[in-house]
Amino acid sequence: MKDTKEVVILHLYPEELNMYGDRGNILTLVQRLKWRGYQPIIRTAGVDDQVDIAKADIIFGGGGQDRGQLAVGKDLQRHAAALRNAAAGGVPMLVICGTYQLFGHGFTTLEGTVIPGISIFQANTIGSSRRMIGNAIIESSMGRLVGFENHSGRTLLKPGQPSLGTVSQGFGNDGSSGNEGAVTNQVYGTYLHGPVLPKNPVLADHLIALALERKFGIQDLEPLDDELEKAAAAQAASRPQ
Ligand code: GLN
Repeated sequence: MKDTKEVVILHLYPEELNMYGDRGNILTLVQRLKWRGYQPIIRTAGVDDQVDIAKADIIFGGGGQDRGQLAVGKDLQRHAAALRNAAAGGVPMLVICGTYQLFGHGFTTLEGTVIPGISIFQANTIGSSRRMIGNAIIESSMGRLVGFENHSGRTLLKPGQPSLGTVSQGFGNDGSSGNEGAVTNQVYGTYLHGPVLPKNPVLADHLIALALERKFGIQDLEPLDDELEKAAAAQAASRPQ
């Protein structure tokens, strides 16, 4: 009999886009699902792989070098329609840095190479000669989020595109607007590495709650003991930029 507690997590381009332990986000989702009695299934989407995006309950993509983005840019276009459909259907997604940039209209590298994106976010990213690196703190509708950013791309949100939050320490999208990240439907884009989910359980649980409600109609997420996670967040937030 089919196990009805399966939750499918789709990891986009784990080989090419994985920086500063971004894969830890997958481990966090997996563990928090298991603690609540669910059975997470990890699927990966690599270049040229056949992938059924419609079967994913949560979708994740990490950050990477410009090189990694160049390697996946063309392949990502194969999935553009399916990913946009999933976004429109309320599938929760978390995309970090390099994947975040490609979920906008595209990324133009410092050398002028244009890597087209899939336009889930109304945003453009342009490479700059300034590296925006350090510990970052943002205020979001979910509360304070902490992480580590390292990017030279400046992401400019178009008017009407909501951000994930505002920067209280660090650079955020572009180092000057005060915006960090973007949110469209249940798709969350951010520059926060670290990885971001282990020390921001509120964001991890938000994604999980959305997935469980969408798949099983479950309204209330069983709380977990987050003392260690909160201590990690407090420690990260106390560090200088
Ligand atoms: N190459 C991109 C930039 O520097 C993405 C970096 C990243 O994913 N950390 O803007």
